Amino acid sequence: MDTGRRTKIVATLGPATDDPAVIAGMVAAGLDVARVNFSHGTRESQRKRVESVRAAAKAAGRNIGILADLAGPKIRIESFAKGSIQLVEGEPFALDTALDATAGNDSEVGCAYQNLPNDVRAGDSLLLADGQIILGVERVTGTRIHCVVRVGGELSNRKGLNRQGGGISAPALTEKDLADVQLAAELGIDYLAVSFARDGDDMRRAQSELRKWRGEARVVAKIERHEALDNLAGILAVTDAVMVARGDLGVEMGYAELTGLQKTIIRQSLARNRVVITATQMMESMIQNPMPTRAEVSDVANAVLDGTDAVMLSAETAAGKYPVKAVQAMADVIRGAEKYQLGAPPGVVRVEDEFGNTEEAISRAVMYTANHMRVRAIVALTESGLTPLWMSRIRADIPIYAFTRHEGTRRRVTLYRGVYAVPFDITDSRPQELYRAIFERLLGQGLVDVDDLVILTKGELSGVSGGTNSMQIVRVTQP
Ligand code: PGA
Ligand code: MN
Repeated sequence: MDTGRRTKIVATLGPATDDPAVIAGMVAAGLDVARVNFSHGTRESQRKRVESVRAAAKAAGRNIGILADLAGPKIRIESFAKGSIQLVEGEPFALDTALDATAGNDSEVGCAYQNLPNDVRAGDSLLLADGQIILGVERVTGTRIHCVVRVGGELSNRKGLNRQGGGISAPALTEKDLADVQLAAELGIDYLAVSFARDGDDMRRAQSELRKWRGEARVVAKIERHEALDNLAGILAVTDAVMVARGDLGVEMGYAELTGLQKTIIRQSLARNRVVITATQMMESMIQNPMPTRAEVSDVANAVLDGTDAVMLSAETAAGKYPVKAVQAMADVIRGAEKYQLGAPPGVVRVEDEFGNTEEAISRAVMYTANHMRVRAIVALTESGLTPLWMSRIRADIPIYAFTRHEGTRRRVTLYRGVYAVPFDITDSRPQELYRAIFERLLGQGLVDVDDLVILTKGELSGVSGGTNSMQIVRVTQP
């Protein structure tokens, strides 16, 4: 357990991590949550990756969460007869939804998304290949979108397509996604990420699909389209977590606004008691190089200072040359950045605010106390992890140990900033026995010393989920 670092690391699995030694190296370097990307690979490869993470976690005696990321309605062009073409600025080029999938040539290419001609109009800009190529829409006739090349370059098969400013109408969950939700539920993963979520209803739909297959995963809304920003409050009301998905978001909104959007999304997520992941191109140059650039170091550090729960690696680990080094570098940068927010101010509560429930009230009381007393650790006896979640929304530089008998809760809290899971099951409810068991566990793992003060939260009726209703300040004694 790496308790010297509060911000968590999510890393994407892929061909570069299929060697068990690589996963083991990433776990040793501090991996907290593994992301399995359903945009790529077969169901079999996804199942294998989930199994390999579990094996590595078990071997290392660590809790590692698993996040399955649905492909979503990413619109892609079809293919070219010769694999790729060269687009020249000022020349005409057309997208045609009626064109054969492999018949693309120098002047036109197909697109499987049949509604595209209805979603775009003259004057729109279409961004291809993460914004490297830009087409200006001149006019739409039937299935054909006539464009002029604004920014040219090489365009190859099945590249992504976005409309600048958003407004593509496809719902977040495609037919493939629905099948993948079932797979995710079967695999017992901990988080399910919904790509291109538009609103709260998209997230509700994902939750109900999961429940249909008895999946227990929490849902993550990927904020990567224009509508998601307009509907952020509605999304936050439903989702458990959000991802600042800077790749597609930067294409839809223009990259210049990304930094401000990132800070806004993080702030609003924390205020609504939601978990937030900052993602994409965080250490992009490490796909090729063993060291990050200064700009990348600064980007990761700034996300940490913004208060993100986790930072994410994508191709750096999934398809890069240095997956283990990328996790190491991220862990180093996080530790370096966190030195500069010791004693960061706790979440602001206005005097007129009312606490929504007992857990929030207890958590606020704990964090207020922890910020004004020399407390070494917070111990939350928890079933669902709700109280540690609340506590971790209210920043304090004190580790929060989620003591729980539930493996699912232990894997889920891997994503919460500053929260560390400890397996704990006690049936003896006499206070002295309880303290003795807690101290034994804390001291045994080197998390506290004798005479340290710790804050303990628990429910009077243990075993009842959502039952935390008390807070105690206790001094650690030799058990
Ligand atoms: P992706 O999502 O990697 O699945 O596209 C993240 C992003 O768009 O930033
Ligand atoms: Mn994306």
